[in-house]
Amino acid sequence: MIVISDLTEQKQAENELRYLANYDPLTKLPNRTLMYQKINEAIQDANKNETLAALLFIDLDKFKPVNDSFGHAVGDQLLCNITQRINNMLSKNSVLGRQSGDEFLLLIQNLKSPQSLSTLVKSVSEELGKRVEINDFAINISASIGVALYPFDADSADMLIRHSDIAMMHAKQAGRNGFKFFTEQMNDKITQKLLLENALKDAFKDDLLFNYYQPIVNNKTKKINAVELLMRWKHEDNFVSPAKFIPIAEEAGLIDVLTEQALDRALSELSSLLRSNPRFYLSLNLSPVHILKSNLSERLLLILARHHIKPSQLRLEITENTLLEDKEKASKQLHSLRNAGFKLLLDDFGTGYSSLTYLSQFPIDVIKIDQSFVRNIGSDASNESIIKTIYLLAENLGLYCIAEGVETLEQIEFLNKLGCHDFQGYYFAKPMPATELLKESTLNQVIKQL
Ligand code: C2E
Ligand code: CA
Ligand code: CA
Repeated sequence: MIVISDLTEQKQAENELRYLANYDPLTKLPNRTLMYQKINEAIQDANKNETLAALLFIDLDKFKPVNDSFGHAVGDQLLCNITQRINNMLSKNSVLGRQSGDEFLLLIQNLKSPQSLSTLVKSVSEELGKRVEINDFAINISASIGVALYPFDADSADMLIRHSDIAMMHAKQAGRNGFKFFTEQMNDKITQKLLLENALKDAFKDDLLFNYYQPIVNNKTKKINAVELLMRWKHEDNFVSPAKFIPIAEEAGLIDVLTEQALDRALSELSSLLRSNPRFYLSLNLSPVHILKSNLSERLLLILARHHIKPSQLRLEITENTLLEDKEKASKQLHSLRNAGFKLLLDDFGTGYSSLTYLSQFPIDVIKIDQSFVRNIGSDASNESIIKTIYLLAENLGLYCIAEGVETLEQIEFLNKLGCHDFQGYYFAKPMPATELLKESTLNQVIKQL
C-alpha cells in the first residue's frame, strides 16, 4: 500500500514559524535571536580568517516623543525608513538587525582594519541624523551609536553586544547624535555606576539617606529666614557627594521618591522651628525630572498636610534646565505649583542660559545668584559687573535675590552695597544635621555672624 500525502502546507507552516522566530515582522530584519547567531558565526569567521568583526549598537534619540506625538503608524514607518536607508549603505559583509523597539544592531564582518570602520560609522551616524519626511510630517531624529570590536573589546557574542551597548550609552551622555568606540575605562565607569545605583536603591528602602540643612539669613533683619535641605548619603562609611548620587538617582528613576522621603523627614525634624515661626521656610531642591510629574502639587501638599504645614513654608528650588526642555509644559507646571501656594526659586542663576525675557514668562519669585559669581568678588571686575547687572534686572522684574556660597566679609560688603542682604554660605554656617541646627548655641552662633 502506498500513502501519498501533500506536505506543501506543512512545509509552508514550518517555514512561516521559522521566519517568525528569526525575523522582525515590521522591518523584516533579523531579530535579536538571529543576530546573536550571526554574531557568533562572525566571531568564528574572524578567528579562521584572522580578520576583525565590529558591532554597532544603534539607539534612536527621542523615538518615544515621535511615537507619542505623531502616532504609532508614523513611528513604524520611521523604523522601516531607517532600515531601508541603512541597508542601502551596506556591503554584503554587513548585516543589520533589530534588537528591540528603537534599537538596531549592525554587524560588520571581514574588517581589515579599524580605520575603514571609522568611515562607515561616521556615514551611518550622518545618515541617521538627516531629517525624514513621513506623511507630510518633517521628523528630526538622530541616533547614538556605540561600537565594539572583536577580538579587541570582547571575546564572546554576549560581551560584544554588552560593550557596544555601554559605548552607546556614553555616546548618549556625550549629547546624542554621535558615536563612541568602546574603551575599558567605560566598562569600569559603568560597573561602578551600576554598583552605586543598586546601593542607592537599598539605601532608599532602608531609609539610610539623611538631611543636612544650611541656614539662609538676612543681615539687615538679623534673622535666619530659612534652611535649604541638602541630601546626604553615607555609603560604606564614606559620604558620596550629592553631585554624584543625585544624577544616578535621576537616571534610575529614584529622585522623586528620594526627594519626597527627604521632605517628609525634614518636616518631622524641623517641626518645632516651622511651627514656632510661620514665616520660616524650608527650601527644597527639585530635580528637572521630578518637577514635570503631573501630580507633583498634590503629592507635595499631601506630605505637608500630614505635618500640618502650609505650602507657604515650602520653597521649591528649580534650575534653568527645567525650563528649557519643554517650555509649555514647564510653564503650566510652575503655574500650578504657584497656585497651590508654593514659592518658586531659580537656583544657580547665571550658570545656564540666564535669559531674562524667559524669566518674565515663568512664575519665579526669587533667584539665587550662583556661588561661582560670589566667589570671584574682589578678584574679577567683569564678574562684579555681571552680579550688578543680575541684581538690577532682578529688581526690575520684581524678584529678589539670595546670594549663595558667601564665604568672606568682603563679599558681604560688596553685596550689601548693591542692596542684597539675603545670604547663604559657609561664612554664616555650613550644612548640618537637624540635631546640630536646633541647638540654641548653633542658632546664636549664626546670628552673631550677622
Ligand atoms: P545647590 O543646590 O547649588 O546647593 C548648594 C551647594 O553649595 C551645597 O553643596 C552646599 O553645601 C554648597 N555650599 C553652600 N555654601 C557654600 C560656601 O560658602 N562655599 C562652598 N564652596 N560651597 C557652599 P552640596 O550639599 O554638596 O550639594 C551639591 C548639589 O547637589 C546641590 O547644589 C544640588 O544641586 C544637589 N543636591 C543636594 N541635595 C539635593 C536634593 O535634596 N535634591 C536635589 N534634586 N538636588 C540636591
Ligand atoms: Ca539649591
Ligand atoms: Ca545653587
